[in-house]
Amino acid sequence: MKIGVIGGGQLGRMLALAGTPLGMSFAFLDPAPDACAAALGEHLRADYSDQDHLRQLADEVDLVTFEFESVPAETVAFLSQFVPVYPSAEALRIARDRWFEKSMFKELGIPTPEFADIQSQADLDAAVAAIGLPAVLKTRTLGYDGKGQKVLRKAEDVVGTFAELGSVPCLLEGFVPFTGEVSLVAVRARDGETRFYPLVHNTHVNGILCLSIASTAHPLQALAEDYVSRVLNTLDYVGVLAFEFFEVDGGLKANEIAPRVHNSGHWTIEGAECSQFENHLRAVAGLPLGSTAKLGESAMLNFIGEVPAVEQVIAIDDCHLHHYGKAFKVGRKVGHATVRSADRATLDAQVAKVQALIKG
Ligand code: AMP
Repeated sequence: MKIGVIGGGQLGRMLALAGTPLGMSFAFLDPAPDACAAALGEHLRADYSDQDHLRQLADEVDLVTFEFESVPAETVAFLSQFVPVYPSAEALRIARDRWFEKSMFKELGIPTPEFADIQSQADLDAAVAAIGLPAVLKTRTLGYDGKGQKVLRKAEDVVGTFAELGSVPCLLEGFVPFTGEVSLVAVRARDGETRFYPLVHNTHVNGILCLSIASTAHPLQALAEDYVSRVLNTLDYVGVLAFEFFEVDGGLKANEIAPRVHNSGHWTIEGAECSQFENHLRAVAGLPLGSTAKLGESAMLNFIGEVPAVEQVIAIDDCHLHHYGKAFKVGRKVGHATVRSADRATLDAQVAKVQALIKG
């Protein structure tokens, strides 16, 4: 079976690493000459709106999936005429736009911060008056890793901020005084069967994920599964979906969904029976899902900007390096490591050893 992937970054690369043993082959559509997934499959180097190359991709593959949600809606609509695309165009339309996403949470009764649609500075001033400060202004689309957003703490922060974010449609959200951030990675098959990985605790620095620790018997697991199920069933979703939540007042508030494999699920490669990457491929290909059970304790650390010396990373006990083969650049995710252990105290010590290798 040949899988077409829109996007050729590290998520595409890890999909191919998981699917190749299942007998799958891959073609990646990505305009970047140095797309790091290209080492694992065919690289169609073209723009996402290039219909000749989209048609070529559709002709060559059995189905198409994607590794980022900012794929233009027209691209998915065009491809869908010729080849199955999972997850659906509708799932993508909602997940790529914070307004549609939060409106869906509200309709489904999933708690989320107060929010308002912002089309002008006047809208922003009115929304700040209604929601209060602190608040967070985010572009409705194309934001990632903390980009395209600004925390507004005092009245001066509000002045001219709509223009500062590019005068594009935005969303104002109430600031959540969270005690923690967690994500739930789920997979739903074509027939609706759904499986969940354990909730993961995430630590971000400057909006970028740094550390994910898979939890054991988290008291909010069942509640998170309920919220995620509502979204999956509403969208008749097929594939892996990640749902990020704030932990607040002993409950959960929805932050955002990603209609794809997710950074907070990388630990599953070594830490779960079947990884998020393999399960995504199983789901979209109509194959039986694999077990999401955790194998002992696991944590994942991102390497941002550069990968530490390989020999030092892999010298740490039960530490698994993933070097994405990307050029090193400040603020760019260029690799990660997963550490495993039988108990939490040892895991924490291994995490500290990896952190000691990370500069800055
Ligand atoms: P996002 O791109 O929406 O996931 O935001 C990136 C990070 O900014 C989150 O992981 C949080 O640490 C922080 N953040 C985003 N929205 C809020 C909010 N409404 N209240 C408090 N912190 C937030």
